[in-house]
Amino acid sequence: MDTASNMGEARLRTEVAACTLLLNMEGLLGYSGHVSVRLPGQDAFLIQPVDQSRAELTPDHLLVVDFEGDTISGPEGVKPPSERFIHSEILKARPDVNAVAHFHPEIATLFTLVEDIPLRPMKNHASRWASGIPVHPDPGHVNSPALGLALAETLNGHQALLIRAHGAVLVAESVPAILVDSVHFEENARALQRAASMGKPAPLTADEMESFRGRFNREKHVAKLWKYYLGKGYGSGVLPAEWAAMP
Ligand SMILES: [Zn+2]
Repeated sequence: MDTASNMGEARLRTEVAACTLLLNMEGLLGYSGHVSVRLPGQDAFLIQPVDQSRAELTPDHLLVVDFEGDTISGPEGVKPPSERFIHSEILKARPDVNAVAHFHPEIATLFTLVEDIPLRPMKNHASRWASGIPVHPDPGHVNSPALGLALAETLNGHQALLIRAHGAVLVAESVPAILVDSVHFEENARALQRAASMGKPAPLTADEMESFRGRFNREKHVAKLWKYYLGKGYGSGVLPAEWAAMP
């Protein structure tokens, strides 16, 4: 590996570890769930070990796992999550995706438990999911290549899905973007839950979402929120201060 890709991998390791700690800080990741990132130019990705606490993850803990779900490198005797096939099969099927998050958000998952109210974009940033949020019908663990492939097929070309009575999977172009999407995803679900308790929910229309997206700079928005959450993480001691100097 040349110096440039070493630098690239070091940066991605710090991003995945920081994203995990920040999602835990925000109550989106807890005792389970995982964030992965594609290693550029390789059929492989970084993901945390199965038993590593989401509150204490460091860049060095991360494993390199290939698209078959096999560990290529990582600390001795450490296993990847059984649900790594969510990540391997999506990264294989979707060259446009670089980062995947799987977690079990409390409010968004509620919408797989009621028949009458599907999760729909309510707040402007949920225009990210204008194409729809499919619900994968199998609530079990996605712990084989075949189950991962079935889930990737449910996701199809969309940017998020719910797994019935289980959780959510989001996909994005980068680790900072997956953090921002995760925050907005649960925010949107909370808005719908509250709106539904007040009256008949009025989700965003296709025209409204198009209008929002037409004037929205996603790159700038992601950079702004990533900076905000890093600052919150450093300020509260959730992120170790020395990570600020890391690539
Ligand atoms: Zn899960």
